[in-house]
Amino acid sequence: MKYSRKLATASIVLLSLLMVISGFFSATRAETAKTAEAATTSEWKAGAATAKITPSRPMPMSGYAGRKDNPSEGTEQDLFAKALAIEDADGNRVVIVTTDLIGILATLREDVATKVEAKYGLPPQALLMNASHTHCGPSYGRDDTRDYFEFLSGEIVRIIGEAIDTMEPANLSYASAKCGFAMNRRTPTPQGFRNHPNPEGVVDHTVPVLRVDDAEGNLKTVLFGYSCHNTTMGFMKWLGDYAGYAQEYFEADHPGVTAMFMNNCSGDQNPYPRSMLYFAQRHGRTLATAVEAALETNQSAFFHQRKLSGPMKSIFETVELEFTEESKREPFSYPVQVLQFGDGLSLIALGTEVVVDYSLRLKKELGDRGPAIWVAGYSNVYSGYIPSKRVLEEGGYEAVSRPWKPELEERIISKAHALFDEVNR
Ligand SMILES: [Zn+2]
Repeated sequence: MKYSRKLATASIVLLSLLMVISGFFSATRAETAKTAEAATTSEWKAGAATAKITPSRPMPMSGYAGRKDNPSEGTEQDLFAKALAIEDADGNRVVIVTTDLIGILATLREDVATKVEAKYGLPPQALLMNASHTHCGPSYGRDDTRDYFEFLSGEIVRIIGEAIDTMEPANLSYASAKCGFAMNRRTPTPQGFRNHPNPEGVVDHTVPVLRVDDAEGNLKTVLFGYSCHNTTMGFMKWLGDYAGYAQEYFEADHPGVTAMFMNNCSGDQNPYPRSMLYFAQRHGRTLATAVEAALETNQSAFFHQRKLSGPMKSIFETVELEFTEESKREPFSYPVQVLQFGDGLSLIALGTEVVVDYSLRLKKELGDRGPAIWVAGYSNVYSGYIPSKRVLEEGGYEAVSRPWKPELEERIISKAHALFDEVNR
């Protein structure tokens, strides 16, 4: 008995020693990796720029019908638009724009895309615009907010130019982590599906992260995503919500780094708990910490850590989605875009509010083809919910926003497959 206790103590000491030694070696390996990477020639160029887009006057807010046209009552947190310009060794460029807005109205994308093509020669298929879907941002598509629309569009065009002009040699990599505060919000009841937290419902807790380092190995920009409505709050002040806090905290922890949030497939996902400002802040901290965790997986070269190489490709097409005959509506031209980073990452950007089924399905169907699959929603157009066939048949809040025909899921998925195949030939 005494002997075995001694043996156990000795084993623990030995084990601790081994852990310290292996920790030392893994730290050394990480530093070596950084030095080796810095010594190689950077095949990418990248630049980022930020604009404050908080309205300078009280304005109607977007997101909750209950507010009617009542104007905003001050600023809890500034709103931002951010641009990341990336160029590969062949001079192919893409620009990713993220915004603290409810959505990207087609009129905004059209205006920005036209201007940046004329000014900077950026082809429209190389421009990805995403909205965080904060419900504490301005309603900017109205006749009485035309002044703000012009300001917003002008600022986005300006930072795209600034991001392109400030591009410098860079290294790109992709990693991911998980974050748990998003919960499915569709609960089955005898009266049908209700908008209520459902811990048994489907979710996608992945936090995909595109990391940009300069040629010396210093972190410059992180672009990260999450599939969750950005709706902790619904008060009358400007607020980026959890996504705003995640970016604010990450940037405070990494001075000089630009943190950009891209909302993913959040149509049926809510942050819980909600309705208190400190929950928005806590969710923001949780998400910022998940981004840190994703970066930590970049220490060495395992399968889930990808250093990205070119060439970069971009493709943007629309697919016609039809409404029921009774609705007598014209078909909707729905945008699907793919940004391809060599054989390492496919960023599939879908329009407006897609439910989480789209992310899960595309990752399942394309996940073994090579590149990591990142499915963003809220991109390039904003026009209500895009249910899956399942959600449409089940009914409930996300199913009834538009009178879609159930073929919409197959049409969107088929288009995403076709574009993916095109850029992965
Ligand atoms: Zn929504």
